[in-house]
Amino acid sequence: MTLPPARQFTGSGPQLEEMSRPSSAGAGAGAGGLGAGKAGGGKHGGSGGAAAAAAAAAAAAAAAVAAGVSSVAGSGSATPSSAVSLTSAGLPGQSPELTALFECPVCFDYVLPPILQCQAGHLVCNPCRQKLSCCPTCRGPLTPSIRNLAMEKVASTLPFPCKYSSAGCLLTLHHSEKPDHEEVCEFRPYTCPCPGATCKWHGSLEAVMPHLMHAHKSITTLQGEDIVFLATDINLPGAVDWVMMQSCFSHHFMLVLEKQEKYEGHQQFFAVVLLIGTRKQAENFAYRLELNGNRRRLTWEATPRSIHDGVAAAIMNSDCLVFDTSIAHLFADNGNLGINVTISMC
Ligand SMILES: [Zn+2]
Ligand SMILES: [Zn+2]
Ligand SMILES: [Zn+2]
Ligand SMILES: [Zn+2]
Repeated sequence: MTLPPARQFTGSGPQLEEMSRPSSAGAGAGAGGLGAGKAGGGKHGGSGGAAAAAAAAAAAAAAAVAAGVSSVAGSGSATPSSAVSLTSAGLPGQSPELTALFECPVCFDYVLPPILQCQAGHLVCNPCRQKLSCCPTCRGPLTPSIRNLAMEKVASTLPFPCKYSSAGCLLTLHHSEKPDHEEVCEFRPYTCPCPGATCKWHGSLEAVMPHLMHAHKSITTLQGEDIVFLATDINLPGAVDWVMMQSCFSHHFMLVLEKQEKYEGHQQFFAVVLLIGTRKQAENFAYRLELNGNRRRLTWEATPRSIHDGVAAAIMNSDCLVFDTSIAHLFADNGNLGINVTISMC
């Protein structure tokens, strides 16, 4: 067995990022865009005087129930229970005012079930509530928790805009469907694809390559569909990442090799190829990773992941080339591991 003709490249060396792995790794690329989403927030203008707004909200909520019910009845076709899956087609004209009642006074995201209120009746969303010691509106105590079942019922009849509506997503969804959609929403900002979650950058897809070139200059790029990704010093202790870029077919791919302990005391290597592009674009490609040498061969073939999905999820699900340190040693040469990477169109 011989190596295919390929340019060999010694990566920029391992990127030893002393990341606080246990806490930050999981929240890395996968969970991304937490702050990003909020940044796009400000859907609705200030809610004015907090107390007044809350009083108005309470009154309007009552009106909302009436309005919602009559509107559903008026539409004639939908039974009350199917109103739960209303989409943008539902409750025409009324939802903006109604959904505005559910805006959290702290983050302007929506307060969605389970809806808890302070003792004076003010609402705040659950993520914010967990960070607060008192009601942001009246400074009163937040505990004991008081559910607001009427508002929950109203929420269940309303279509809510996707969190990334300000970025261009036109979808409105039942509140129970919102989190799943937002996780995969095309309009969710892209986070920096570099593994390790030390870079907090986020932005549009078009801005990803300029960001990588400016902020991550140490990452080197090789041209061509068939290259060798050489990871040096694979015996370095601890969690280590090796990263390089591969350009072909007018696209940029990020090659990532990560060494980490997914299970206590069991070090493994995870290798994956990401497309700097959307999921849809990624479907046009296939990649092959191959360890080759000492009369052995280990191959993995798959569709590249979009950087929108990130490395963390691939590793979590072992949806990548996974091998342990013994296998790495079978293929390594002097502590350096060459991975043949071939990208093709399909
Ligand atoms: Zn909030
Ligand atoms: Zn309050
Ligand atoms: Zn969306
Ligand atoms: Zn970055």
